[in-house]
Amino acid sequence: MRRISKKNTLVMPLLQERFEQFMAWTSDTPLGLVIDRAEGPWLYLSDKRRIVDMISGIAVSSLGHGHPAVVEAVREQAARHMHVMVYGEFVQRPQVDLAEFLARRLPPSLQVTYFTNSGTEANEGALKLAKKGTGRSRMIAFEGSFHGDTHGSLSVTGRDVYQQPFRPLLPDVDILPFNQERALQAIDERTACVITEPIQGEGGVNIPEDRWMRALRARCDETGALLIFDEVQTGFGRTGTLFAFEQFGVIPDILTIAKAFGGGMPLGAFISSAERFQALRRDPPLSHVTTFGGHPVSCAAALAALHVLVDEQLPVRARAIEERIRQRLRHPSIVEVRGRGAMLGMQLRNADLTARTVRRCLDEGVLLGWTLYSDCLVRIAPPLTIPFDVLDGACDTIIQALDAVEQDTRT
Ligand code: PLP
Repeated sequence: MRRISKKNTLVMPLLQERFEQFMAWTSDTPLGLVIDRAEGPWLYLSDKRRIVDMISGIAVSSLGHGHPAVVEAVREQAARHMHVMVYGEFVQRPQVDLAEFLARRLPPSLQVTYFTNSGTEANEGALKLAKKGTGRSRMIAFEGSFHGDTHGSLSVTGRDVYQQPFRPLLPDVDILPFNQERALQAIDERTACVITEPIQGEGGVNIPEDRWMRALRARCDETGALLIFDEVQTGFGRTGTLFAFEQFGVIPDILTIAKAFGGGMPLGAFISSAERFQALRRDPPLSHVTTFGGHPVSCAAALAALHVLVDEQLPVRARAIEERIRQRLRHPSIVEVRGRGAMLGMQLRNADLTARTVRRCLDEGVLLGWTLYSDCLVRIAPPLTIPFDVLDGACDTIIQALDAVEQDTRT
């Protein structure tokens, strides 16, 4: 086991040792920050330092940490009842209210929600729904995609290095180049579904052309393949609209969500039409079950978070955040800032510069991150509620860190 990089950590030794001894982790160098508490855009560490969270726990804490409305909803629901029965048997108000809230903001073909615990489970459910509903087995995904780490989601994740050690995965999966119209001809009458993120997150914040999205929708319609949009990362205002698909003018047959959905609590879902969901009710009944999916406390938190998101127009604020970041992040070492809203990637010249800049920012109190597949792209995904002066300060720190790292390299 590789030990946590001491340079990187701001921890109490005892707790760090117990972290290393008793916890399984898969990062080769975990950041190892010891969190005391978190509030708004701030992470408070055990050594009394505070750090600006510019990645929102990887696109989760869109309202900032510990939003009072969410905390109150959690408290109230936990006191009323927690788990009472496996999913879909009892009528539980937080689930029903949340499903209805979503339906009222989604197109007529996306009116029924099946709750899960996470993003990967949402995608597992979506793939099963598509296979059973169409009676077909072939599945198509795209290079550079990330859909989760359970076997089904991993099978449709377009990054060979993560698939290879776990083969054989699901059969009958084809991975096509992303954003290439000609490749869409591979979608055929045997295809149950095509899954894509509207904007690829872990693949490096890649935005496809509107034209490609429309061609994808058209090819699915021609062949009867179901189109699944994985909005686990892009959902809930992060890209400037409640869901990213709204910006492309293309509606999926199945929508999957998680991450920011739960307002900081674990929650996911796959959403489709009532008619499609019939497929999981018969031959055999209970074709898809979950014990904890749609936990009432998570659903109560999600509903509170959604009310804040909508009432405070946070998707619009995401666009203002983008504008501000783009204005401030100008530096000869920045090749490009790409993405939409508060889902941005800052491309730097090389991996060493990237790693050192991210490290230096952390030392200066700004938490940035990488995307899974790229070591030259700095992830920038702040809470949508981040005060502008805090955001500006974080951007200034990034620019100063770039200057300092460049300076160090020269000397
Ligand atoms: N889909 C996308 C687009 C993601 O970014 C992620 C996680 O990063 C997942 C699915 C998996 O979600 P989870 O980690 O909740 O299983």
